[in-house]
Amino acid sequence: MLNRSFEENEIKKTLSWLSKHWDRPIHPEYHSASTVDEAISMLNSYEGKAKLFSGGIDVISLMKNRVLLPDVLVNIKPIKRLKTIVVNSHGIAIGTLALINDLERSGLIKDKYPILFETAHSIASPHIRNMATIGGNLCQDSRCWYYRRSPDTGISYDCRRKREEGKCYARGGENQYHAIMGESGCVSVCPSDMATTLLAMDARIKTVSSSGRRLIPIDELYTPFGNILKHDELITRLEIPEIPFGSKQKFIKFRLRKTIDFAIVSVAAVIKIEGKVVSDARIVLGGVASKPYRAVKAEECLLGETITERSAAEAAERAVVDATPLSKNGYKVQIVKALVRRAVMS
Ligand SMILES: Cc1cc2nc3c(=O)[nH]c(=O)nc-3n(C[C@H](O)[C@H](O)[C@H](O)COP(=O)(O)OP(=O)(O)OC[C@H]3O[C@@H](n4cnc5c(N)ncnc54)[C@H](O)[C@@H]3O)c2cc1C
Ligand code: SF4
Repeated sequence: MLNRSFEENEIKKTLSWLSKHWDRPIHPEYHSASTVDEAISMLNSYEGKAKLFSGGIDVISLMKNRVLLPDVLVNIKPIKRLKTIVVNSHGIAIGTLALINDLERSGLIKDKYPILFETAHSIASPHIRNMATIGGNLCQDSRCWYYRRSPDTGISYDCRRKREEGKCYARGGENQYHAIMGESGCVSVCPSDMATTLLAMDARIKTVSSSGRRLIPIDELYTPFGNILKHDELITRLEIPEIPFGSKQKFIKFRLRKTIDFAIVSVAAVIKIEGKVVSDARIVLGGVASKPYRAVKAEECLLGETITERSAAEAAERAVVDATPLSKNGYKVQIVKALVRRAVMS
């Protein structure tokens, strides 16, 4: 773990580099919070003009591309109590500042929640996993190339995600990595692998803001345009229920570059089996919609069945019955089917 003054120096260097990159003296004010209350009060006093950051990977990248221009940055990394991973009577509680690398290296997680280990291991590169936090991973912004395109390239897109009157360029354009499920004004997909797996695990997010505390099911965290958190709301912890002994748990991700890449499609499955028969199933697809997509029809067809090639193939077919691919991403449907079948058979 980096020490605080080293981190602050690095952040100052990055901000000064950004100013040079922009060729004008833009220095967002930079503050570090040592407690949750302090962070909330800072966010609150700047009324939506402050941006909270933890690992800073996504925030700095968005600032570099001028998608995000905050007046103030609030660093929450010094809040030590948000870094812990603790077993409790319900399952496991993970602090929002736990690094992806911490999840990958935890013996407890590898033993009891291999699905979480597999997910952490699939994210980005070792360097990024050593900076990125679980809270930041859940709240990272869309990877849509129209949205992220920097004006430095000579063209940028003021699309629907940036302003209400904007149009969605991907819908009729280069949409090969976009959504195949759901109808909305923005067809970009949720990029967080953690979100996919945490929904399969039925996790909930604890938050605090000036209006109080909330416990939000992962399923309710996202909208097609981002997440539902208020400008002064902070994720503090994730609560993950215990997975019953003997359940199958599997995360599989299809990506273009195996060493480092976001999911084209991913599947996270937690399947409870009692007496050889499926008694509960949560099958979640990533890379297909603006939020992790629960393939309820696939889950339903497994209930009361034994796992066989036939029932897995049936679940795979049912997972895509509601797909409405765009002009260039019909190929994702076949990948979903292959991954669901493999996850069920694993
Ligand atoms: C090359 C590359 C490859 C990548 N590959 C993958 C991949 O395969 N899979 C994947 O899932 N991700 C991938 N990522 C994304 C990476 O994991 C995220 O950028 C990272 O997890 C963001 O974490 P962070 O802690 O740096 O967040 P930050 O950049 O600090 O924050 C991101 C967002 O979260 C908000 N935020 C942070 N913490 C909190 C909190 N506690 N409460 C409320 N809001 C908060 C911030 O305000 C900001 O909006 C990749 C990134 C890169 C650059
Ligand atoms: S998919 Fe969303 S982010 Fe991409 S161009 Fe359309 S509105 Fe913008």
